[in-house]
Amino acid sequence: MADKPTMTTSAGAPVSDNQNTVTAGERGPVLLQDYQLIEKLAHQNRERIPERVVHAKGWGAHGVLKITGDISKYTIAKALQPGAETPMLARFSTVAGEQGAADAERDVRGFALKFYTEEGNWDLVGNNTPVFFVRDPLKFPDFIHTQKRHPRTNMRSPTAMWDFWSLSPESLHQVTILMSDRGLPTAPMFMNGYGSHTYSFWNDKGERFWVKFHFKTMQGHKHHTNAEAEQVVGKTRESYQEALYGAIENGEFPKWKVQVQIMPEADAEKTSYNPFDLTKVWPHAEYPPIDIGVMELNRNPDNYFTEIENAAFSPSNIVPGISYSPDKMLQARIFSYADAHRYRLGTHYETIPVNQPKCPVHHYHRDGEMNTFGGIKTGNPDAYYEPNSFGGPVENPAAKEPPLKISGDADRYNHRIGNDDYSQPRALFNLFDEGQKNRLFSNIAAAMDGVPGEIIERQLAHFDKVHPDYGNGVRKALKEAHGYEPNAVPVTGNTPQRAAE
Ligand code: NDP
Repeated sequence: MADKPTMTTSAGAPVSDNQNTVTAGERGPVLLQDYQLIEKLAHQNRERIPERVVHAKGWGAHGVLKITGDISKYTIAKALQPGAETPMLARFSTVAGEQGAADAERDVRGFALKFYTEEGNWDLVGNNTPVFFVRDPLKFPDFIHTQKRHPRTNMRSPTAMWDFWSLSPESLHQVTILMSDRGLPTAPMFMNGYGSHTYSFWNDKGERFWVKFHFKTMQGHKHHTNAEAEQVVGKTRESYQEALYGAIENGEFPKWKVQVQIMPEADAEKTSYNPFDLTKVWPHAEYPPIDIGVMELNRNPDNYFTEIENAAFSPSNIVPGISYSPDKMLQARIFSYADAHRYRLGTHYETIPVNQPKCPVHHYHRDGEMNTFGGIKTGNPDAYYEPNSFGGPVENPAAKEPPLKISGDADRYNHRIGNDDYSQPRALFNLFDEGQKNRLFSNIAAAMDGVPGEIIERQLAHFDKVHPDYGNGVRKALKEAHGYEPNAVPVTGNTPQRAAE
């Protein structure tokens, strides 16, 4: 025993016996004074923190971003200069499933990245898809409610999903990707990542450029069909964790080619589509992707909870040379992601080791739950306000970004008016070969099981507008799968339900 450290309470006192509780007499009741027992039970009760409302089930690893290309004319960001190597963390996730949900489910995958740059943490909180279901953040909570459990049945509701989508045609692009092969990757290594939003770069001349980030899998794309996924889930619910953790333990480090699309600032007025619309891509022919480097994941976390569950990614985290855009969804996420972490992890969530920047941090925030950083971050107890005469940290105008040029009246602009929701899904549909189209049709038909005819017909009308072959293909698949005949049975209630998995 001498070579092992003595076990202690969390207050440091030695524990004499970790096998037997204190009882009054050998066969008597437990005494309240057995603080070791109480501390153990109390800690166990508090082992869970609120799970993320979205993206609850995740898998992650540490790695490095290596920059080989030269985009210094667009950005002063040190982490993006030629030769830069930046330690980073990735967390992949499904959107709708809870923490215990199976990995191999058809869903969009989160693709969240934290780069620990010498100028502060830069987070890119994207998905494995370049677009999203909605373009206006006012619709986001409603959309997520359709993906989660029905309040009465506590089951997932295809009726709610297709009702919302069919009433929100801006979702067509993302629905098409979700129901295509890429909607069910076999593991995180076999999918692309996209920053999805439009961000901006700014350079040493004060010029701004709009930018989209892409992470292209170097392992190749691999997907499950629905039937394959059912087999996988029947055997293991943790197929992604097994694959990602196992590959990294075996030294097979997954890599992604990192690319950017760059748009000169003034072009935003000229494109036929709104370049800040999260339901749209920038066609590659117009804005070709530029290779800038490689991202590699090469280290598994030592503790899943502290390094992955505690990881807090937020698009609000930018560094000099990288900034936001007028994308409404991005603007809302700048608030809501940091707010989610304050709720989930506490006010000082960025002092949790996995979230700590690897550069010096100086600010005047103080007090509050879990203030573990010694009170204030100014280096001088007298410098607890700003401005002060005690040598506290001061602003640095060199970090100021060029002004964001905005014109127009404040109003609630109808995002549907004049917006083409069909051309880009059509461009995608036209990329699919016959097999891909047939799987798209059958995946949609399977997902529509039990949905009232009125909603199905409304959605089919959207597919028809993308391409007549799209609508007709889904009609045929619906008939084959469920004997569905065109009808407009009115919606009488959100009753037909399907189990979550
Ligand atoms: P391109 O032909 O130049 O680009 C095609 C893009 O589509 C490639 O990035 C490719 O990704 C991706 N792609 C190819 N096959 C599939 C598939 N089966 N499922 C999903 N994505 C696929 O055309 P455009 O740039 O004009 O885009 C056409 C359509 O492609 C868009 O409307 C959009 O739906 C989709 N797309 C476009 C992207 C973009 O940023 N422009 C990004 C991703 C998809 P990869 O190289 O990894 O195979």
